[in-house]
Amino acid sequence: MNKKITGRFAPSPSGRMHLGNVLCALLSWLSARSQNGRCLLRIEDLDQMRCPRSYAALIIDDLHWLGLDWDTIEMPPNIPLLEGISSNICLSAYQSDRTPIYLRYEALLQQKNLLYPCFCSRAELHAANAPHLSDGRVVYSGKCRDLSLPQIRKLSQTRGAATRVRVPDKTIPFLDGCMGAYTENLAQECGDFIIRRSDGVFAYQLAVTVDDGLMGVTEVVRGNDLIGSTARQIWLHQQFGFVPPKFYHIPLLLAPDGRRLSKRDEDLDLGILRTRMTPQQLTGTLAYAAGLLPQYHPVAPHDLIPLFHWDLVKKQNLLLPDLFR
Ligand code: GLU
Repeated sequence: MNKKITGRFAPSPSGRMHLGNVLCALLSWLSARSQNGRCLLRIEDLDQMRCPRSYAALIIDDLHWLGLDWDTIEMPPNIPLLEGISSNICLSAYQSDRTPIYLRYEALLQQKNLLYPCFCSRAELHAANAPHLSDGRVVYSGKCRDLSLPQIRKLSQTRGAATRVRVPDKTIPFLDGCMGAYTENLAQECGDFIIRRSDGVFAYQLAVTVDDGLMGVTEVVRGNDLIGSTARQIWLHQQFGFVPPKFYHIPLLLAPDGRRLSKRDEDLDLGILRTRMTPQQLTGTLAYAAGLLPQYHPVAPHDLIPLFHWDLVKKQNLLLPDLFR
């Protein structure tokens, strides 16, 4: 096995996987396995109210049914920041177990004087979830950026604060493996962003970066609606001294009527699909829709490994065939 290549699939278990999630799992897995690399499964359950372990168990079972297998997370080599944190925590694939690690990396940003408390309400509530494009994006106004200590003390008496990180006026360029050259200016297009909610729950952006860094992830494959998070994550990787992974933002699967799939589309979730088709039929259909097969035929994920290549993967959003209705 080539340990230098490490991919991952990082679902949020807020419901059963839909077909877009399955395509993402399949392509992450194929990309790593076709290079003889490792492939990790990480459960992004920071928001434990929305992501109970029972849902995670269903996702794990669905992936097993499909025929995808995963490697175990290994101890990161000699990271001083992790001294004193038990190996149980470092090896856990559940983000909800990893809070002590995130605390250390939050402290690192604090040492660099990059953090400040933010008392602005509501917008922070969803910070633990990955911000998919349809959620909309607002550049933070910077309202709490320069509060004085007395102002902070006064505001703290009435409400808890989220924690924001100060971003530089810096353009972050990267070459996406699917979408090509991409740039984002952090200050102008994103603004200071939340790394911890006021209820103490760490935000997706911090957790995903720390985990990808510590787990040695070299390639991230995910839906193209998350491309807007990538510049933030590359910048955080740099702050933490990690080498940023290569990113592949894959096309979204759209329902036959052009709608974006969501976990609310229960007719397309794995619970229903497992009663209608075999894993090979499902894999064959997704592989065909994504451009990996010239014609549909049932196939097991393992049989796609020798023919996988990113050049084959279609770059435009993919319309699901009617057979899924
Ligand atoms: N957990 C995120 C989601 O399911 C994906 C995050 C990522 O791949 O970076 O939407």
